[in-house]
Amino acid sequence: MKTYNKSIRSYYLVAIVFLGLALNACGQASTSSNKKTAGKTPQIQKTDEEWKKELTEDQYYVLRQQGTEAAFSGELLMNKEKGVYKCAACGNELFTDDMKFDSHCGWPSFDKEIKGGKIITKEDYSHGMRRTEIECAKCGGHLGHLFDDGPTETGMRYCVNSLSLEFVSQKELKTEAQKMDTITLGGGCYWCVEAVYEMLEGVVKVESGFSGGTVNDPSYKQVCTGTTGHAEVVQIVYDNTKTSLDEILKVFFTVHDPTTLNRQGADAGTQYRSVIFYRNEDQKKTAMSIIEALQKEKVYSNPIVTQVDAFKKFYIAEDYHQDYYSANKEEPYCKLVIQPKIEKFEKVFKDRLKK
Ligand SMILES: [Zn+2]
Repeated sequence: MKTYNKSIRSYYLVAIVFLGLALNACGQASTSSNKKTAGKTPQIQKTDEEWKKELTEDQYYVLRQQGTEAAFSGELLMNKEKGVYKCAACGNELFTDDMKFDSHCGWPSFDKEIKGGKIITKEDYSHGMRRTEIECAKCGGHLGHLFDDGPTETGMRYCVNSLSLEFVSQKELKTEAQKMDTITLGGGCYWCVEAVYEMLEGVVKVESGFSGGTVNDPSYKQVCTGTTGHAEVVQIVYDNTKTSLDEILKVFFTVHDPTTLNRQGADAGTQYRSVIFYRNEDQKKTAMSIIEALQKEKVYSNPIVTQVDAFKKFYIAEDYHQDYYSANKEEPYCKLVIQPKIEKFEKVFKDRLKK
């Protein structure tokens, strides 16, 4: 992508520095900054051969070889329809129509991205320029570049190849949405729970955040104090034609301990409580009947303490908490606490993993 002007200030977020590693979730991450940093392993790993099969030749050139489509050639350049722009390689939702603006630069341009650490930035010194490359955080696909010369209040211009994007109109989204349902679950540290659900067939989106408290838009630090009333939760959007709430809850009761009050392993406090936030009576009934069945069958030696509460509000956690496990697999907490849970899940639900 060409730059507008040559005075590109460095837009760069400094690497994460972990201090004082303790094997509980809070102590470990409270000092880290933003995960938008190079070196993260994308969650989706495919060989070049596999990508070549899935993408068109042009898409492969742009997404996998950091190519750039010719200016003013992209199909989505002039698109003004309402809808969502996803990564063409993996479906990761990156931008919405209201973030798009006419930059006259020849490539689709956006002034912000959808929250949740969906895009990572890297320094790019190719072609004798110093630029900030943007990549899809989920699959590592090249999207374009990020400049700080945007005309809107954000001051940013995400200059994106049309070939890197797939546009889904609002109309199509509505049809898609009819098959979708959402549930919010607290099963201790959300890094663990999120990592597991990312792998389950039929799950289309998992976000880590907070629910069930009294403070608006709390930070992770605030929630860690245990005084906001929030639980660490994951919000799961799932396709009812491919999985079910029943299955989602079976996974839930497999990968966390529902019998320890306000505690999961070394993580203690009400923010780690076991809780199901239901959105309607059907969800409530399903949750209650599974708990009842587990109690009856004496699956656990101690009584289940999982709360079943009405959902009120979900606050997404800071970017660096999203996809935490896949970004930090080598961290002691991930290796010792999260990995065993994933292995257990993979064993029990081996036929239900995403391909
Ligand atoms: Zn992607």
